[in-house]
Amino acid sequence: MPNSGSRGTLAEQLPPLTEHEALVEANRCLYCYDAPCTHACPTHIDIPRFIKKISTENVTGSARTILESNLIGATCARVCPVEELCEGACVLNAEHKPIMIGRLQRYAMDYVYDRHIEVIHPAPATGKRVAVIGAGPAGLSCAGELARRGHDVTVFDRRELGGGLSTYGIIVLREPVPVALAEVEMISRLGVTFKTGVDVSGPVPDCDAVFVATGLGESPSLGIPGEELVSDGLAVIEKSKIDPQNLRIGKRVVVIGAGNTAVDCATVAKRAGADRVTMVYRRTEREMSAYAHEYDFVKKEGVEFEFLAQPVAALAENGQLTGLECIRMALGNADSSGRATPLPIEGSNFVIPADMIIKAIGQQKTSIATVLGLETEGGFIKVTDSLETSVPGVYAGGDCIRLKGAASTVMAVQDGKNAAAAIHQRLMSHG
Ligand SMILES: Cc1cc2nc3c(=O)[nH]c(=O)nc-3n(C[C@H](O)[C@H](O)[C@H](O)COP(=O)(O)OP(=O)(O)OC[C@H]3O[C@@H](n4cnc5c(N)ncnc54)[C@H](O)[C@@H]3O)c2cc1C
Ligand code: SF4
Repeated sequence: MPNSGSRGTLAEQLPPLTEHEALVEANRCLYCYDAPCTHACPTHIDIPRFIKKISTENVTGSARTILESNLIGATCARVCPVEELCEGACVLNAEHKPIMIGRLQRYAMDYVYDRHIEVIHPAPATGKRVAVIGAGPAGLSCAGELARRGHDVTVFDRRELGGGLSTYGIIVLREPVPVALAEVEMISRLGVTFKTGVDVSGPVPDCDAVFVATGLGESPSLGIPGEELVSDGLAVIEKSKIDPQNLRIGKRVVVIGAGNTAVDCATVAKRAGADRVTMVYRRTEREMSAYAHEYDFVKKEGVEFEFLAQPVAALAENGQLTGLECIRMALGNADSSGRATPLPIEGSNFVIPADMIIKAIGQQKTSIATVLGLETEGGFIKVTDSLETSVPGVYAGGDCIRLKGAASTVMAVQDGKNAAAAIHQRLMSHG
């Protein structure tokens, strides 16, 4: 993969498998019939088939099998929570180690990208035009699937680079920027037009269908005094990926939040030179939304935790942060989400010294639904089973529709694929 492996504290963590390692690993696979791993993969890649092809040294064929189900296979190979998905379902879990499905997938995908092998080709032009708003995994997947079927697709994105959070939000330890950009380029070579730096703020003219894949937006406000001195977690991660030379991390860092983004921010802070990093969360480790393997990882990185603590003020002297004032919490009854409600204990305020505070408390919904007049539910765009919104011909997928369940790249990719199939059917049946 292009530049995917320069080693260092903020470089991709897992090295690529060598040819020998890939062959040995591929030969461990039992090639199960009706394989549970394929069922567990949200994009239903024929996993035994792609692994078999690696074992017979048909690596391009292996990549083709992956791309037939998942055009964003190089990203997914790196970022999928495989413990919870394909590898978690591997029958070898019971007695041995599961097959390293993610790393074999990465091996096959890197093989074709490194060698500039074109695996997927577009069908003859249909003359139908589709606009895709958002060049993240959902938008790219949909655009690529439509181009494969011969449609004329234009992708709009407000950022300068395509890839969405794969480019700007997933830390380099898991996915370096060139991996995401190689996929954008592959989709572009299928004939898709990219218009980046374009913030879509009204209906898109001159198209037969629209796919909305705008993800989520900014971090919400903490609503505490001194918030203007608090750094935004997504901005810190973006800096660490796009402009790492100018990343400024404090010596004593506090991260507010306990989800996957908070864990990533803590990892970046630690790797970028912070002496102490403390994650602050108002509930306990039982209620944390970060994946268990991510939590274990960050503990091994030396990150500390302050559970049952709620921030009440960012403290500063002469404009310089000195600490985060928190109040101790106790857990009460379960709320509507089933999690215990944290309640402040009066008079229990305490200060965690800090010269940098990073908030990583989720993302707000964007305004695209209002702009396009789409119905929403809980702020997320409402869609039918075929991912059509309340406006006929306008479809949506990815994080912007994910009202329930954990948002993930592979789910966004599957939405893009499903929406493309529905859009294709609509375009071809409307003559
Ligand atoms: C810090 C972090 C770490 C993560 N780590 C993982 C992980 O390890 N594994 C995993 O599976 N998932 C992870 N995720 C989740 C994953 O990144 C998302 O689920 C996935 O990117 C969603 O894809 P998407 O296409 O829906 O949205 P996005 O990737 O957010 O892309 C949306 C795109 O739409 C563009 N856009 C928005 N509004 C407009 C507009 N009005 N006009 C034009 N363009 C617009 C944006 O600029 C963006 O490029 C992580 C998320 C975060 C925040
Ligand atoms: S896309 Fe993700 S879940 Fe599916 S096989 Fe690949 S690594 Fe596993």
